[in-house]
Amino acid sequence: MAGYRRLIAAAKDAGFQFASFVEGASATGRCLYLRHDVDFSLAAAVELAETNAALGVRGTFFVLLRSEIYNLLSPWSVERIRDLERLGQEVALHYLEPPGAQNDELAGRVRGDFETVCREVPTLRRVVSWHNPSERLLRLRGEGTVGGLVNAYSTAFTTESLYLSDSNLRHSVEALEAALANAPTRHAQLLLHPINWVVGGCSVVDVLRGPGGTLYAIASTGCGRIESTRRGSRRGFRTRSSMASYGTGGPQR
Ligand SMILES: [Zn+2]
Repeated sequence: MAGYRRLIAAAKDAGFQFASFVEGASATGRCLYLRHDVDFSLAAAVELAETNAALGVRGTFFVLLRSEIYNLLSPWSVERIRDLERLGQEVALHYLEPPGAQNDELAGRVRGDFETVCREVPTLRRVVSWHNPSERLLRLRGEGTVGGLVNAYSTAFTTESLYLSDSNLRHSVEALEAALANAPTRHAQLLLHPINWVVGGCSVVDVLRGPGGTLYAIASTGCGRIESTRRGSRRGFRTRSSMASYGTGGPQR
């Protein structure tokens, strides 16, 4: 995870302080909302949280109630959430909207999922991020809260902040560092998926395959969408030298 440590160091060097989505930013200075969407692995999330703790920074880990990969409410998963909190990190809801859901149902669904998770994790923070958001969800940027939870996709954290993401490994570590250093806004949101950094690799295919292929096998049989992501990554990355690599397996550390 050398690339991850370097990126966090670069954020500190650029003067960013790490903030909570719920508690808000400090009145002065640069402020970074470090967001980790846990799409695949709570074990990888804990590993990244250990690094955060060692570096003295706090991130918010958004976990899926309705994942096809892990069962958030299993005793093992709940214990991993406790691990995240013991490491000084925040945990919040990563919301998956069911197909065909209507706008007027959204607040109730978000609140319902939040309350379901709260029965096992009463310390869950009152903030939500969307998993694979539809255009319809992204158009809700004007809603500062949804279902009583802070909307991590609202304007304060996106259009009014520098918004950076490692989705599909589209940016190199160097590009993310440079963007933070030259941030045009006082606030920034940095979305980093734990698996990209803990497993590492030069492409989404590498990351999902993981060492030995076990994780990829689970992901590809459990979720058809992963297959489309895999195909998309083949189109998107032209040469190995153009790829970002966040973990331990690639040419750029
Ligand atoms: Zn997600």
